[in-house]
Amino acid sequence: MAHRTITKDCDVLVVGGGIAGTFAAIRARAAGAGKVVQVDKGWVGKSGMSAFAAGVLTAVAFPGEDIAARVKDTVEQGRFLYMQDRVRDHFENVWEVVKELDDFGAGFLRTKTGDYEKTAGRGKAPLLMFPGNKLMDSLAKAAARRKVEQVNKTMIVDLFTNQGRVAGAAGFNIENGDFCVFRAKAVALATGSSRYKGLAPNHRCCSGDGYAAAYRAGAVLSSAESSERPAQAFAARWDIGPGMNMFVGQGGIFLNARGERFMEKYDPVLKDRADLISLTQAFAMEARQGRTPIYLDMTHFAPEQMDKMKVVLPLPWRMFERAGLIAGGRFVAPVEWMITSPWARSGIEVDIRGASSLPGLFACGEVTALQSFSSELSPCATQGALTGKYAGEYAGSCDIPDIDPAQLRAVEERIFRPLERKDGVEPGQVVLGIQEAVTPYDVWHIQHETRLKAALERVLEIRSDELPLLRAYDPHYLRMAHEAANLVMVAEASLRSAIFRKESRFAIREDFPYVDNQGWLKWTEVRNEGKAMRVTARDVPIWGYPYQPENRQRYLHPRWETAASLGMVRVEDEVVRWA
Ligand SMILES: Cc1cc2nc3c(=O)[nH]c(=O)nc-3n(C[C@H](O)[C@H](O)[C@H](O)COP(=O)(O)OP(=O)(O)OC[C@H]3O[C@@H](n4cnc5c(N)ncnc54)[C@H](O)[C@@H]3O)c2cc1C
Repeated sequence: MAHRTITKDCDVLVVGGGIAGTFAAIRARAAGAGKVVQVDKGWVGKSGMSAFAAGVLTAVAFPGEDIAARVKDTVEQGRFLYMQDRVRDHFENVWEVVKELDDFGAGFLRTKTGDYEKTAGRGKAPLLMFPGNKLMDSLAKAAARRKVEQVNKTMIVDLFTNQGRVAGAAGFNIENGDFCVFRAKAVALATGSSRYKGLAPNHRCCSGDGYAAAYRAGAVLSSAESSERPAQAFAARWDIGPGMNMFVGQGGIFLNARGERFMEKYDPVLKDRADLISLTQAFAMEARQGRTPIYLDMTHFAPEQMDKMKVVLPLPWRMFERAGLIAGGRFVAPVEWMITSPWARSGIEVDIRGASSLPGLFACGEVTALQSFSSELSPCATQGALTGKYAGEYAGSCDIPDIDPAQLRAVEERIFRPLERKDGVEPGQVVLGIQEAVTPYDVWHIQHETRLKAALERVLEIRSDELPLLRAYDPHYLRMAHEAANLVMVAEASLRSAIFRKESRFAIREDFPYVDNQGWLKWTEVRNEGKAMRVTARDVPIWGYPYQPENRQRYLHPRWETAASLGMVRVEDEVVRWA
């Protein structure tokens, strides 16, 4: 094969240069790991969702706040599927992380008196603000100062195992095509999540690479059907974003095609500031009733509000201006808005230390399963910090494992195979096929077994007919080919798990409209059993946790209850029928 092989040995290999990975790398060094290598397929600190985040820090517990109350609230928002010890750990440690980020140079906005400036956002708790991508720039620099070796433009594809333990990882340089082999005592995956390459800044690099690599190596994935943020919502006709928290926090209002402020019906308390799951499900219900397009109206913002948005969201501001939606410093018309990029989180199951089911493999941030409460910047940071510490300690207790030469050759062959095909299927065709299968609002946002099964059938067709023919012209296309293949695995895991869970909890099912606290306080699990993917479920240890649901029976999901009270649906014979 016409490529060089570059081999590196390290104590801890961190894969991913977002907030979780960078905190993990910093803490692994602090825990005594001599050589920490951090690899990113883009640039550490400049790629990934963290770098494009919308300038607000959520889930912060301020000094003096009642931690127990925040934990209880969060557990309830997590529909009792979160690991409650992990939620507590987050709120106990998040302020320390905030101060660390500030010391590194995140530049949190302050009031004239020097206090941290708080703002409203989605949900009840106040947020901190920071200017654009300053947070990740300063964090990446802090890691470099601590002698974390940052290797950019390198995509990790597969993990090595030796005697049941992870022995390192392999990938390739996406510019020159070098085969990159990392031998490591511990590997921490922090590759973010998967968004089916949707229309939003940076969603295109969220291709579930970590989920797929861990799955192939034999780690257990979990909760692939559940998500607190089943999708983002963005400007529909322009590639503009992010900023939802700021937009609604400052008073943005959603309108349907009739000009009605519909969120008042779905969430009379938080209204337009409802969480993403409520917003996207309400959008889907409006679509089901023929009341789209949806618009976000910010034309009433005062000059001071616009000034603040310009500081916190400089990039979206410029894009809105270029699109003619901001003129003379104000929004001139409501912006068409829509659900985009379903978030299929076939996350790696980890314990509170970030350890997966595979010895030597750790994971943190959005690459982990829903129950580890690791989405949004500050939870990813606290989880990254803890995982890095334990990965560093683990590395201190073992030697660098050998890599079996036959496994090395097999991985090399698999990675470069698409480059050798002279003819075949373009990665874009596979991605489009997957998007068409999973993105319709009535597949992921309003679910029914028939539609989930039809989507799964299409995904399996793509897996068997198109994946074996994936073709790449150069290392750049090779990246896209592997990303496309990973998305197929993610879609299969998510759809199979969604079909398996026979209730409404995060997702709303027409055919199982009840929240079932008797039968379904469970985490689904996905295992790689050779050629077959197996889904099972295990009980959430809810009785050992401090908080349990008050209603321990089956009850109609609140979203369906609202829809029924508004006359949109009837529930007959335990299924939903649209009016
Ligand atoms: C548009 C948008 C706006 C958001 N705004 C906010 C906000 O304002 N506040 C907030 O709290 N949260 C926000 N979030 C959520 C938050 O950004 C994420 O929860 C968080 O950044 C996830 O961090 P992470 O480290 O797990 O993943 P990421 O930041 O996505 O990092 C993953 C990294 O892994 C790399 N990678 C992926 N695959 C590979 C591979 N195979 N090999 C090597 N490297 C790989 C990627 O290039 C990337 O750099 C936003 C999310 C989005 C998408």
